[in-house]
Amino acid sequence: MNTPSPLASHPGATAPGAARRWRPTPLITGAAALHAGAAAALLAQPSTWPWAAGGVIASHLALTAAGLWPKSALLGPNWTRLPEIRAMAPEFAQDQADGGADRRIALTIDDGPDPDVTPRVLDLLDQYGARATFFCIGDLARRHPRCIEAIVARGHAVENHSQRHRHTFSLSGPGALRREIEAAQRTLTEISGMRPLFFRAPAGLRNPFLDPVLCGLGLQLASWTRRGFDTRERDARKVAQRLLHGLAPRDILLMHDGHAARGPHGQPVVLEALPEVLRAAASAQLRWTTLREVLNPAISPVLDAALDPALSPAGGAPLSRQTEGGRPPAGVPGRNGASRPPFDKI
Ligand SMILES: [Zn+2]
Repeated sequence: MNTPSPLASHPGATAPGAARRWRPTPLITGAAALHAGAAAALLAQPSTWPWAAGGVIASHLALTAAGLWPKSALLGPNWTRLPEIRAMAPEFAQDQADGGADRRIALTIDDGPDPDVTPRVLDLLDQYGARATFFCIGDLARRHPRCIEAIVARGHAVENHSQRHRHTFSLSGPGALRREIEAAQRTLTEISGMRPLFFRAPAGLRNPFLDPVLCGLGLQLASWTRRGFDTRERDARKVAQRLLHGLAPRDILLMHDGHAARGPHGQPVVLEALPEVLRAAASAQLRWTTLREVLNPAISPVLDAALDPALSPAGGAPLSRQTEGGRPPAGVPGRNGASRPPFDKI
């Protein structure tokens, strides 16, 4: 388990969303040194080529294995649990001492928006007063913008899950990775008014080129503590059990509103498993939070897209729909209010 350190999760105390300097991990540094050493050995003594080739192949296998392991931090910083609030923001440690912050837990919901499932997930979250982080696909957001608006208006966060969610994502070079992630940044910022601060790779698969791209775009990689496999598992009880077994404060849970598996009656499994998860968290007195609120509890959960004018939508329309605390301002449909986003138009 990679418990994020403050430096790993917040390198150089850079402001959330700001580009930061890339620092290669020991595995990447070692692989680069091995490549250089192999090249030098070949030049000095060509007969050593079997050893040189073997070393290079071994380093590539190690890098590939690290990329196939979603919870690995071998290729760069990776949130697999929420960092301790004391590490992130000492000035908020009193909160923890008061018994509030240390009960935080995060629900992340991937692969949406889905006009059939997402609105029902939002209703369930409302029922339990829970807030979640939605890792959305840019292309789907473009197709279903009302869903994205509803996610934000009801107090949740929208983060980057790539523009197209291609299964070949982890085979891409640095240029293709950047284009894919940047396209989703633009799409999601334009529609939600919320510039993503986190990125989750499709299927959690990566390669060594990803971390420098994320650093340049000011994004933090996030994976999860536990997942229910709700895109494959048709039994909602099993999904909930996987998520709840050993559940602890600071856990990051993964569910899906897109690509959701269907139960025996055709119901998306997430809709049956989610209430059980929300009930269990409530009875354990765990408090749902969003990843971005943990990243910077000192400010609103929503960073104004004005932080990066290049990502602001044309026309100067107001971008931020939320106020501090994640609640929508007056006049905007509330999570529990009578006025709700018009799903009938989705
Ligand atoms: Zn996904």
